[in-house]
Amino acid sequence: MGKKVLIFGIDGGTWKILRPLMKMGLLPTLSQLVDEGDSGILYSTLPPVTAPAWTTFQTGVSPLKHGIMDFLSFDRSKKTCGLINASNVGYPTLWQLVSRAGMKVISINVPVTYPPKEINGYMISGILTPSTESTFTYPIDLKEEILGEFGEYTIFVSHDVLRLKGFKKFVGKLIEAEELRTKVALWLMNKTSWNLLMIHNQSSDSLQHAAWPFIDPEGENFNFEMFEMCIEFYKSIDENINQIINQAGEAAVIIMSDHGFGPLQKVFNINRWLLEEGFLKLRTSTLRRAEQLVRKLDKYNIARKVIPVRKREKIRKRLDFDHYLDWNLTKAFVPYGSLYACLFVNSKDKGEIKTILDELSEKVLEVKDPETGNRVVNRLIMTGNYTDGSYSFERSLPDAIIEPENGYSFNSSMAREALFYTPSFRKGAIGRHEMEGIVIFNKEMALSMHIKGKDDLSIGELTPMILSYLGIPLPFYMVEG
Ligand SMILES: [Zn+2]
Repeated sequence: MGKKVLIFGIDGGTWKILRPLMKMGLLPTLSQLVDEGDSGILYSTLPPVTAPAWTTFQTGVSPLKHGIMDFLSFDRSKKTCGLINASNVGYPTLWQLVSRAGMKVISINVPVTYPPKEINGYMISGILTPSTESTFTYPIDLKEEILGEFGEYTIFVSHDVLRLKGFKKFVGKLIEAEELRTKVALWLMNKTSWNLLMIHNQSSDSLQHAAWPFIDPEGENFNFEMFEMCIEFYKSIDENINQIINQAGEAAVIIMSDHGFGPLQKVFNINRWLLEEGFLKLRTSTLRRAEQLVRKLDKYNIARKVIPVRKREKIRKRLDFDHYLDWNLTKAFVPYGSLYACLFVNSKDKGEIKTILDELSEKVLEVKDPETGNRVVNRLIMTGNYTDGSYSFERSLPDAIIEPENGYSFNSSMAREALFYTPSFRKGAIGRHEMEGIVIFNKEMALSMHIKGKDDLSIGELTPMILSYLGIPLPFYMVEG
């Protein structure tokens, strides 16, 4: 049977929440793992976004290599944005590497695993799976088995529950979804032996995005009633983990996040700024005017009532950059990026790209929040493709990513006309990702890796650790770093 590694993903898991709850004695399973094993900060990827971070964990390479920077990607030749999925991951995943070594894998709900690829074992895909109507399992008939056995399965709890039914109901749904996932995991563990088992909890990220300022024990808007609901959620996570560990028998256990969490005070509409600074130009056409009208109607909820959803979707599609940017006059634009801005320069000339980025960097660092006078941008990080001679225009990597200061994030929408907006509870996320996440190793994992006393790790470092623990030779690109 060989060695076994058991991994729990807590999306957006942070010590800011876990430590106080552990001190209160409310998370006995996690506390025991920390006491007996080892724990620390797990640094996220740049950008600290769910899709790139979990792709880095699955492949052991950085976002610059695997090319996934957010949930969206931009096709330079077609000038359109699209959702990414597992087919965009150009490196073998942990699931594939372990399968190829003849070992058995169970992967449940890990982000960027849809559509599921063939592995030696079972896979249930995670966030970005369109719905439970789609083929979200490998093998394909596992889906019918799950639905037959459990009647339902929730991949992701919609934010609509919060908007329509309130926070308490929302938290209740999150708890239910993760409890059901645990039942499915225990059922799968009974079906088969395994060497690598991962169960991912997406709900923690949803909860923290929705309510961060109210549930952050250090925050000035801390709300004890909401924190109590949050306690129920984390207690149930702890109990879920306890059940899985008990059934797993002897195994190396890793509890990990993809990024940490913090408050989101204000969102900066970067494309609006690029427009004002002359880096971006809009087309003026009849079509564009029609789109503007729909957006305005949308703003007051009128379009929702009078234009059928399908038609609105069609109009939305026209909001692709191809339709509304004047490509002859646009120098730089941000097609996607909700936390960090993923910036593309509209040029094939390396010298010109560098000149535009230098100018833009200088200006964007000067941006101040008009209300507080605070700086909004921490730094502009050039991805550097154009400097080392290997620049490929077709590759969908941005030319730079722009890192916000703490408390800020970006929005790439063209629909908003103001430079800044303040996110509100129920309407949008009021928490944002931060670099510092969490990692916990049980005693077996801690001892075998001789990591006692090792300083903090980054998410991509766990991949070779897991392979080494299982005795699988590392691919050369992982050794190179
Ligand atoms: Zn995440």
